[in-house]
Amino acid sequence: MKIHEFQAKDILKQFGIPVPQGMVASTSAEAKAAADELGGKVVVKAQIHAGGRGKGGGVKLAGSADEAKKHAEDIIGMQLVTHQTGPEGQKVKQVLIEEATDIDRELYLGIVLDRATSSLTIMASQAGGMDIEQVAEETPEKILKEKIDPGIGLQAFQARRLAFGLGLEGDAFKQGAGFIATLAKAFEATDCSLAEINPLVVTGDNQVVALDAKMNFDDNALYLHKDIQALRDTDEEDPLEVEASEFELNYIKLDGEVGCMVNGAGLAMATIDIIKYAGSSPANFLDVGGGTNVERVRNAFRILISDEDVKAVFINIFGGIVRCDRVAQGVVEALATLDVNVPLIIRLQGTNAEEGAKILDESDLEFTVALELREAAEAIASTVKAA
Ligand code: GDP
Ligand code: MN
Repeated sequence: MKIHEFQAKDILKQFGIPVPQGMVASTSAEAKAAADELGGKVVVKAQIHAGGRGKGGGVKLAGSADEAKKHAEDIIGMQLVTHQTGPEGQKVKQVLIEEATDIDRELYLGIVLDRATSSLTIMASQAGGMDIEQVAEETPEKILKEKIDPGIGLQAFQARRLAFGLGLEGDAFKQGAGFIATLAKAFEATDCSLAEINPLVVTGDNQVVALDAKMNFDDNALYLHKDIQALRDTDEEDPLEVEASEFELNYIKLDGEVGCMVNGAGLAMATIDIIKYAGSSPANFLDVGGGTNVERVRNAFRILISDEDVKAVFINIFGGIVRCDRVAQGVVEALATLDVNVPLIIRLQGTNAEEGAKILDESDLEFTVALELREAAEAIASTVKAA
């Protein structure tokens, strides 16, 4: 789960990490009042769940409260396009009004789960700010890394080594090492999946401050953190993914044209692979789960079909615990209430496959049956081409 910058800064503040003073505003009048309270010289920052706001015109400096009000008028309600939003952009509902910081240097600090080493890794760089992706691509040697041993946690010497590598000196060195250690602690305590401070700034008077903050959380651990769960903003999420989560369906929107309904994450991934292999491309990942029933299949199918990119649907079920007849029943019921005019390719194998096939045969559905995965993928590719 993702949260907004101001929410991440609230959390970091609770752990003792220095962040600029700020307030959230959802109208330009509120923005002006906040700017007045903060002394007039402020930054107006669009709050959306995507980075790259600065380059997209979503972060603006103001010299006075009136100017802050003007910026807020421009930013609130705008459709902010960044390299992370896609071309349609994301609508800005609120801005963070923050006291302006006097920046000497912009650094980068991030913690991610490194799947190759199965451990958290801290990354730091002197080349922080808005072009960190380019730095990672063109001059990866400028990014320092420390692996956190899961058995013992981040060691003090590692934090100092990073602070040294960031070129911090005097007060800023001590603060920086403390900052890094605290961020690691906050990451673990809140079950983050990603924490990124970009930029981490050194101010004109040699203080270290988190000027931006991004925190993502492990969905599977959210039940342990009701306070964090409450920060969810579904307006920022894909509407179909939000709906799918209400039915506990594991649905992820992709950018292809074949709608896939599959049981089991492993089979879903194999299905995506084989669709690609046959020359077509999946519109989604959808795992209806191991013990699915008619109702979930019906909802899954409805969500799948509501995606306008879908040109063909592939139902690929391997009946183990899930029974093929139930899946078939769900599909038939779903189609009775939906206006579906894309071709259907169905592969049912395993428990009660014959009963399932019978239910489909007796319905007035039009569909293609495939028994083998490869055969199914080829049928889909040619169907999509024909459509
Ligand atoms: P992002 O573009 O979405 O990552 O948004 P950031 O919060 O990182 O802001 C983008 C850039 O705006 C930063 O890299 C800074 O250069 C600039 N910026 C943000 N806040 C301040 C501030 O208080 N003072 C100054 N001078 N620049 C700021
Ligand atoms: Mn940033």
